Amino acid sequence: MWRSSSGLIRSPRGYLVLQGGEEARTLDVAINGARSVAYSTLSLFFRPGCYLWGMTNRAYKYRIYADTATEEFFARCCGVVRLVYNIALEQRSSFWRHFKRAEGKNISYPSQARELTAIRAEVPWVAECPIDAQQQALRDLNQAFQNFFSGRAGYPKPRRKFVNDAFRIPSSRVGPIEVLNAKWARVRLPKIGDVKFRYTRPIRGEVGNVTVTREANGWHVVFSCEFDHETPANDNPAVGIDRGIVNNVALSTGEMYAMPDGSALVERHKTWQRVASRRKSRSKRQAKARRHAARVAAKAARKRLHWQHVTTTRIARRFGTAVLEDLRIRNMSASAKGTVEEPGKNVAQKSGLNRSILVAAWFRFELLLTYKLAFRGGNVAKVDPRHTSVTCRECGSRDKGNRENQAKFLCLSCGHEDHADINAARNILAAGTRPAARAEKSAPRGLERAA
Ligand SMILES: [Zn+2]
Repeated sequence: MWRSSSGLIRSPRGYLVLQGGEEARTLDVAINGARSVAYSTLSLFFRPGCYLWGMTNRAYKYRIYADTATEEFFARCCGVVRLVYNIALEQRSSFWRHFKRAEGKNISYPSQARELTAIRAEVPWVAECPIDAQQQALRDLNQAFQNFFSGRAGYPKPRRKFVNDAFRIPSSRVGPIEVLNAKWARVRLPKIGDVKFRYTRPIRGEVGNVTVTREANGWHVVFSCEFDHETPANDNPAVGIDRGIVNNVALSTGEMYAMPDGSALVERHKTWQRVASRRKSRSKRQAKARRHAARVAAKAARKRLHWQHVTTTRIARRFGTAVLEDLRIRNMSASAKGTVEEPGKNVAQKSGLNRSILVAAWFRFELLLTYKLAFRGGNVAKVDPRHTSVTCRECGSRDKGNRENQAKFLCLSCGHEDHADINAARNILAAGTRPAARAEKSAPRGLERAA
């Protein structure tokens, strides 16, 4: 049991900073930067006899199946919430001096919330949408200004139609989630009534707030939840992972998973964009073609996300440490034809994915893997990717000629033959578990006080 008033505790998950009195229990945690992740563990507490436990945040998203009238009402709510936000932003931008002269203080959330109530008394189409969602928008704006004034973010921007189509309601104003059967559930929202959604997975924990959001394939409801989670000690082995330019992920164990490149969908998306550009500007038919294009792009994005979830879950279940190459150092923007260091042949047809989409996909892969491993007591380590693809894993010779082509590795010194990406993944694993790192790994598992 820990009795230090403050100090560092080293665990396989990172460094914990103890704060407080004799039985210091509140810990501030930095898990490979996972704090900035939406799904990060928020606060952790130490309890004698158990490893780590604390509150974890998760968001659960389901597709809504509603009639046309309800969907139109959703759209109207989004519009009103956006309008409230943009007017409030305008007020803060243009009239803050006037307000201060008249009232003697700055525009704040309470002052704007009061004005919102006054507006609702006079304008019926503002009043017909839930006030909670409008208040949440004012809170968001208040937070945006706080972020701006503290230097964390830029000046707040207006919300835009088709980009920010969402509204949020605190859970205190939302009815309980009723599970109807294995497939369906419903929830009661203020001023809207019962909303039925496809219940694809059980919700865990306590619902914090509820967001209704529009995507290209329809309306969705998102429940953000918080639950207690006991992180187990993780003694699973380490793995090196190479994320390829040609859409593959290679593990140091010799397995390869191919990310769906969705080239058929990419083509269909391009076709609909071409159709839209040919149609009369701002016409209904052009809008329709645009909707088709957006729907196809969203489907491709869903396919990628699904694959990322499946693959990262698979990896997180089997391994304790995942060693990745640092994408910020690796030049992912280089063409698929290959860089000087990584020659590639015949890759044009394989790399159906747009480069920027591919880079974003690999960053998200890392994000998902980081929180999934952290949830299971594991961690993600990152290494400098340079030379990992041209260095022989067996004899260590580094030569551009070792890389016969995109797929094949053949060492010019010792004749070692391997798939190029798997050889790279093995180098990445070795780089992530070099002696310095190994010394840290060999420390007793569980909590250990640092010097
Ligand atoms: Zn060799």
